Amino acid sequence: MQRQGADLTNMATTDFICDFSRREWDGKFPLVEGHQGALISGDCLTLAFGQVVLEEQTSLDPGYTCTMCLEERKDRCWQSPAYEDAIICLRCIRQGSTKLHKDPDWDWTKPTLQEPA
Ligand SMILES: [Zn+2]
Ligand SMILES: [Zn+2]
Repeated sequence: MQRQGADLTNMATTDFICDFSRREWDGKFPLVEGHQGALISGDCLTLAFGQVVLEEQTSLDPGYTCTMCLEERKDRCWQSPAYEDAIICLRCIRQGSTKLHKDPDWDWTKPTLQEPA
C-alpha cells in the first residue's frame, strides 16, 4: 500500500508499505507490487510461500478476495496474521516468488522444505 496522504508526484521510499506486515520500505528489502499499489515484502512472501506452497495449507475458504490481484479466488491463500484484510492467493504467491527469485537486484530465493530437526 502507499502511505495515506503521500505526495504522489514525489514519493519517498517510506511511502511504500507492505500490506501484510505494514513495514515501511527503506529501499533495502524486496517488495513485490500487485494491483492498485498493493505490496508484499520478501519476508512476507517467504512466509506465504512456506505455508501455502510447501505445506499446502490455506488461511481461508474459497471465495476470498486477494489483496494482490483483487480477484475472487478459489485457490489456497495466505492471510496476514496481523492484518486480516491482507490476503494473497496461491497464484500471486507463485508469480511474485518467481519474479523475485529471478530478480538479480535481490538476494531472495524460493524457500524449500527443510527436514525436521
Ligand atoms: Zn511484509
Ligand atoms: Zn491473487
